[in-house]
Parts: sequence; C-alpha cells; structure tokens
Amino acid sequence: MNEHRKIKVLGISTDHDQCECCGKEGLKKTVTILDLDSGVTVNYGVVCAAKADKYDGLEAWKAAKKEINKAVNKEKDLWNQAYSYAFRMLAKAKMGYWEYNEKGQATKWIPESREKYEKLAQMFYENFNKPLGEKIRMDKFDLNTL
Ligand SMILES: [Zn+2]
Repeated sequence: MNEHRKIKVLGISTDHDQCECCGKEGLKKTVTILDLDSGVTVNYGVVCAAKADKYDGLEAWKAAKKEINKAVNKEKDLWNQAYSYAFRMLAKAKMGYWEYNEKGQATKWIPESREKYEKLAQMFYENFNKPLGEKIRMDKFDLNTL
C-alpha cells in the first residue's frame, strides 16, 4: 500500500450516471473518489476511476490525461495531414473525381481507389515519423507503384 496516496475511494454511487472525468453518460454506477489534497469528491466512471487510482492524486491524473490527449491529438493531426497530402497528390494526378452540388460547385473528392488513397496516406504518415535522412522524397514517388 502506497502511503503517499492522495486519493481515497469512498465507494460506489448509483446517484450519478455521468463520469466527471471524461463526461461519459448513461453509467449505471460511478465510483466516488475523495481527493485528499483538496477535500473535493468526484464521481468517476469505473474505467476512469481505475486509471486515476494508479496516480498519486487527481491533479496528477489530470496532468497525465492532458499529456495522453496531447499525444492522441498529435497523432490525429499527423493522420489528417497524411490524408490531406495523399488527397492532393492523387487529385493532381487525376486519380479520382469531384462530386458537384446542384450549383456546380465541387463538394467532395472521391478517390479512384480507396485502397490506394489509404496506402498513400499510410506512406506519408510513416514518412513523417522517419528520421530526416530516411525520409522518402514523396514528390518523386511513382503513383503507379502503389
Ligand atoms: Zn470517465
């Protein structure tokens, strides 16, 4: 048992159906946690409570969660960028077509091959994570080899 613990699990509550940590709703039960530092009690869903329980206190868990979210968002940004590059490259090579609305405005680009689009995005994504010297010159990449 860790004597430096700063949170205490008070018990299970059925009065709350929302997790105060992640906002998930419709929970049958929540775990009531007392933050010994601040004296504040919170109701967390079982999943978040189990994670929070691994940290020294709620502040530490919040800080860790922020870091986790930052990493997740960075990952999402990289994927978005990879898809955007793949789209531009395929659109430029006319390996796809545009959908138009009734006003004749291009609204959505459809890749000729979803598989190629995803493969190319994957390549861009991997390329982002490669050290500088190992990066592929994507502008020289032959789309026919996809
Ligand atoms: Zn939660």
